[in-house]
Amino acid sequence: MSTTIAAIATALSNSGISIIRISGKDSLNIINKIFKSNTNLEPNRIIYGKILDNNEILDNVLVSYFKAPHSFTGEDVCEINCHGGNQITKDILQLVLESGATLAEPGEFSKRAFLNGKMDLSQAEAVINLINAKTRTESRIAAKNIEGDLSKKIRELREELVELMAHIEVSVDYPEYDYEEVEPESIVGLLDKKISEIGHIVDTYDHGKYIKNGVNVAILGKPNVGKSSLLNRLANYEKAIVTNIPGTTRDIVEETINLGNIVLNISDTAGIRDTDDIIEKIGVEKSLKILEEMDLVLYLINGQDGVSKEDFEILSKIQNKGLKYITAINKMDVTEKSILDTITLELVDNGINKPICISVEENVGIDELKNEIINLFDSTDLDYTHELIITNERHRDLLKKAINYLNDAKSEINNGQPIDIVSIYVKKSTKTLGEIIGADVTQDIIAKIFEKFCLGK
Ligand code: GDP
Repeated sequence: MSTTIAAIATALSNSGISIIRISGKDSLNIINKIFKSNTNLEPNRIIYGKILDNNEILDNVLVSYFKAPHSFTGEDVCEINCHGGNQITKDILQLVLESGATLAEPGEFSKRAFLNGKMDLSQAEAVINLINAKTRTESRIAAKNIEGDLSKKIRELREELVELMAHIEVSVDYPEYDYEEVEPESIVGLLDKKISEIGHIVDTYDHGKYIKNGVNVAILGKPNVGKSSLLNRLANYEKAIVTNIPGTTRDIVEETINLGNIVLNISDTAGIRDTDDIIEKIGVEKSLKILEEMDLVLYLINGQDGVSKEDFEILSKIQNKGLKYITAINKMDVTEKSILDTITLELVDNGINKPICISVEENVGIDELKNEIINLFDSTDLDYTHELIITNERHRDLLKKAINYLNDAKSEINNGQPIDIVSIYVKKSTKTLGEIIGADVTQDIIAKIFEKFCLGK
């Protein structure tokens, strides 16, 4: 880690300011070569001056200096705040590189912060989550995890497991001392407690996943029921082409919209029906295949046509997959109330969720539909201000693995194995938890995680 690295830390676009970040033991030397000011640079202060390239003024800038180890990376860090033009920012970076710095890899600043113990792996991952956050909830959760909420919990769990192992080992190694007797039942009890505690964190992932990736929604229904119109209505502008020729939505149109605290990724799919039209067919197959990746289906029925055998077939497929779904009868503006009631009864009698009656055209019932979606997914149910929520698949997988080891430990006890065998599995579980915070990770994993960062972070 002897090199001094530099990169543009802000997005390259014309803006008020840009920041060029430098980290490493030569940071100050490099700055002193190119920066002239009447004031000396001191740690934690920002100084006004000029960037000079061989006596030629490139820009008037502000430079800050953070002395190791009190910086983001734990190394000497200097940051140049220059004017936010593409060219000037690149010119200053170039000058910094010519003065002895190496261009940083994506995520290299954060990686150094991790390697220098400024933050653990889960905190570094929360930094990426914060940068990529698309909703308020998502950014709040990321901020809490940067603060170390997840790390703290993992450390506690590990300490408790280590204590349990020590307890086991002491009683195995020094039975003559008659330490508090370790009863297998009491160990099982403790293991169960930890399994349920970790399981509870794993369970937050589903919500966390929605918060992070959004809810994947498919709008399904036969041709001409108003799927594209509904997509437009929800997205508030004309994206899908709306026509009154059945089956015109040939491909899948995608739209991302914010609803309450959640992001919906809505796919408008080709109408589902038996058809010989090959293009239509590809669309229909895609429509069914797309269900695999869905979290929610909005199933539309045309009030004028009523509910058909095919509708029931698709709806039962949706139910069999255990998918969340909402049914709506559209075009209520041109459908008799008695017909709406009949369709509603028919659906409910067949075990389908009670439909909402809507008119996409006249914007009736859309708020009710939106509220139903919010009720199904909105994360405000989960009090993210108090509750620890995980949003990373890596964390979820490791937590599950840690639970499996604890279950293995339990099985050993139940099979009457000596108590010290049990501690092997508890140790494996502890090690697995350690991978979340980076205590027991390989270089490959570290490289893979930081690769996902943007340049300059
Ligand atoms: P899709 O094939 O399911 O995507 O249906 P479209 O969104 O293309 O709509 C088909 C036709 O139904 C269009 O002419 C729409 O204007 C019309 N339509 C959609 N929603 C309503 C509605 O609530 N009421 C009425 N009367 N017509 C609607």
